Amino acid sequence: MASPKTTRRPAPQGDTATEVKVVFLGGLGEIGRNCAAVEIGDRILLIDCGVMFPEPDMLGVDVVIPDFTWLLERKDKIDGVLLTHGHEDHTGAIRYLASHVDLTVYGSAMSCALARPRIEDAHLLRHVTFVEVADNERRRIGPIDVEFLPTSHSVPGAHALVLHTPQGIILHSGDFKIDQTPVDGRRTDLARMGELASTEGIRLLLSDSTNAEEPGWTASESSVGPALKAIFREHPDQRIIVSCFASHLHRMQQIINAAELTGRKVATLGRSMQRNVELGLKLKLLHARPETIVKLETMDKLAPGKVCVISTGSQGEVTSAMTLLAKGSNRFLTLEVNDVVILSAHPIPGNEFGVGRVIDDLHRRGVEVVHSGHHHVHVSGHARRGELSLLMQVTKPEFFIPVHGEFRHMVHHAELAEQMGMAPSNVLVCEDGDVVKLSSTGLALGAPVPAAYTYVDGNVVDVGGAVLHDRRVLADEGVVIVAVSVDLKSKKLLGTPLIEAKGWLHGDEMDQLLARGGAEVTKAVSEALREDGANQALIEKAAKRALGRYVGEKTRKKPMVLPVVLVSS
Ligand SMILES: [Zn+2]
Ligand SMILES: [Zn+2]
Repeated sequence: MASPKTTRRPAPQGDTATEVKVVFLGGLGEIGRNCAAVEIGDRILLIDCGVMFPEPDMLGVDVVIPDFTWLLERKDKIDGVLLTHGHEDHTGAIRYLASHVDLTVYGSAMSCALARPRIEDAHLLRHVTFVEVADNERRRIGPIDVEFLPTSHSVPGAHALVLHTPQGIILHSGDFKIDQTPVDGRRTDLARMGELASTEGIRLLLSDSTNAEEPGWTASESSVGPALKAIFREHPDQRIIVSCFASHLHRMQQIINAAELTGRKVATLGRSMQRNVELGLKLKLLHARPETIVKLETMDKLAPGKVCVISTGSQGEVTSAMTLLAKGSNRFLTLEVNDVVILSAHPIPGNEFGVGRVIDDLHRRGVEVVHSGHHHVHVSGHARRGELSLLMQVTKPEFFIPVHGEFRHMVHHAELAEQMGMAPSNVLVCEDGDVVKLSSTGLALGAPVPAAYTYVDGNVVDVGGAVLHDRRVLADEGVVIVAVSVDLKSKKLLGTPLIEAKGWLHGDEMDQLLARGGAEVTKAVSEALREDGANQALIEKAAKRALGRYVGEKTRKKPMVLPVVLVSS
């Protein structure tokens, strides 16, 4: 729901033919599963369709995706998915939607190329048509014209989207920063945004809130290059292994430049890194001398000072190349004392623990670790307050909704807009599931739509909150299973209760407790059998309650108690 500080106005009457709705299906209140639907008349354009990586308490969950309930009820109306860029938090859920409905996906060549493998892995490519768009292309998609404006971000080919709707222009910033010296020379197109603002006017701005709490400007990506070169120069006789995001071609370009400058060959480690280097070279987004990129196997023949490896795993992911390297269990490469490892990334919130463990393990192996905590080997891909306010100044929107962020990021972004003179009534802090309606009378909230977290575990979509609750109890407290056999006719307990426990206590202590717990169950079940109408459910309840109470009193723990009652007749 929208926050109390937002202005709730009744939806205006009339003018429904040209009313434009924006339905936020994800990304507002979390970093991830970015997805918004724009409904114009009875047609729908989707902006991004991403996944969120699970939080530590989402046990066994692979990814979290948007709730598609509202969308699937209208699946025949979807004219396309517009990609702001290729990161997984914007593209990773297309495969789950494509299993229900055929989709046409519009984005830059890089955005499409990054979105493709996940869909291909799921054998759903035949349900998705990719349409590559050029920078500044204006294209009719469904009921409206869409312009794709270049933006700088931590992946090439990012776009802000200009939607020319019957209610005026909606500008979606996508993930962006205002990098005046980007590695590829492709700047955020403030000029076109300003032109639109001063001619047609921008009705509604949706803008990236990730760094809305951070003052000043995000440093230019090109400022990382000199730091990398300095480290390469300072270690002329040591192997250098650098990890960064596999889609961050601008960072990879600067690593390659530093390697070429210091006479090193470059090999990749990790499947996505290898795939994206090949992709970058093919799309001419990455440039290297023909002899620079070599296979990892050939590195053994080179002197240490000639070696540079670019690896995945900058986020401490359990099975990533860097984590395995740190543990000494990567079968393609073994770290040695004196190797230099550069972590050219910053942990995403939630990943700090995993990254810290990797850094510790790297130290244990005697390697020299360089990370963003003490060297300028990483900059963010998201705009800070200085850039966010500049975007607002250039676009002069009538209405503003912060998107892409934790709730606090969006609140700070909204406050920034108000500091810049926007009327508080024209700034709306929304959350997942909120619906806003843009009409000639203004912007108003509509009835919210379902937007719960949808958990994916293996091939099972929508594992459900109850399953996760059970997993948490099992992980925290363990499970105790009690089996009893009863004869309902003679109202007798047959034999003694069998009790098994896992993940609870162990050894003699547990055996003694379980023996006494069994006596409690015998007593409770015998009493329950004597009650009128005693049945299986009643016996189960009595066994569960007796054992649960006993275990709770003795251990102050609440394991899951699973009663099994066998009824003989
Ligand atoms: Zn993002
Ligand atoms: Zn991004």
